[in-house]
Amino acid sequence: LQEGNIVIIGSGLIGRSWAMVFASGGFRVKLHDIVQEQVSTALEDIRKQMEELMKSEMLRGTLSMEDQMALISGCTDLKEALHGAQYIQECVPENLDLKLKIFSELDLYVNDSTIISSSTSCLSPTSMFTGLQHVKNCIVAHPVNPPYYVPLVELVPHPQTEIATVERTYNLMKKVGQSPVKLMKEMDGFVLNRLQYAVISEAWRLVQDGVISPRDVDLVMSEGLGMRYAFLGPLETAHLNAEGFKSYCERYGESIKRVLATFGPVPEFDGEIAEKIDQALWEHERDKDDQLKAGREYRNTCLSHLAKLKKEM
Ligand code: NAD
Repeated sequence: LQEGNIVIIGSGLIGRSWAMVFASGGFRVKLHDIVQEQVSTALEDIRKQMEELMKSEMLRGTLSMEDQMALISGCTDLKEALHGAQYIQECVPENLDLKLKIFSELDLYVNDSTIISSSTSCLSPTSMFTGLQHVKNCIVAHPVNPPYYVPLVELVPHPQTEIATVERTYNLMKKVGQSPVKLMKEMDGFVLNRLQYAVISEAWRLVQDGVISPRDVDLVMSEGLGMRYAFLGPLETAHLNAEGFKSYCERYGESIKRVLATFGPVPEFDGEIAEKIDQALWEHERDKDDQLKAGREYRNTCLSHLAKLKKEM
């Protein structure tokens, strides 16, 4: 058993997944939410997810399912939940006012060694942590949904975050089997979403310009580029496609610049093209909720198998 408690604030989609990640690493987890019913539902759902994982032999960590389950407890009283906390992972809805309220409360209760971390996808550390007494202990640890299957965590410091906070968070993430990366400074969209938006934007443009269908542009990624990118990043891919990265730039730099110059302005992301892509992604004879559920289950199964394969490589 690891020392010190992990406190998860908000027991929704991301909070539950974080709770399972930390429990798989042997940490005691307090799951806090505002209403008791929400906490109970979350605990039931975690048990269900763990049972499924156990059946498919995809449960993470070395502890049994029951041992992992026993490490997670629910709590609706914030002050009580924070007792003995070494690390807090905030997972409430993406709303700046709500997050500010929570962080100012946490600021009153935590001691100098507790790390306060936010799962935010889009809010900057400056907008959330400026002015807090414990700002040096604050950091963004942005997971990728679902964190149980996708290990990346982007660590984004506030300008006043102490290096020790970054290092401790980094080490904790490693310990529970996540893959942390450190941003040296704040950047809108962090890194994952900036890369993702570049891809979505070009996919949109190719559909808009009548070059390819929505389904086929997805295949370019899932059957082509994505196969490589699951194992190597874009820079190393380039490095290996020539005699090193510099040689890649010498060989392909001019063509890349020529193609990049044809990228248009930022798409509007609404209107006719949004409609066209949306239409192409539904199967029309099937219930929409069923499709989403099945699609998400398929995604999670694929990701868990991929995670297993990556571990074996
Ligand atoms: P969610 O709506 O599923 O869960 C939010 C939970 O917070 C709910 O259980 C709600 O009851 C609880 N909550 C609301 N107010 C609270 C309060 N005052 N105190 C305690 N709990 C409270 O949201 P989610 O999808 O889990 O997202 C949580 C955070 O994670 C957001 O900041 C989001 O941007 C980020 N995130 C989400 C994803 C994603 O794909 N869903 C990915 C990465 C990061």
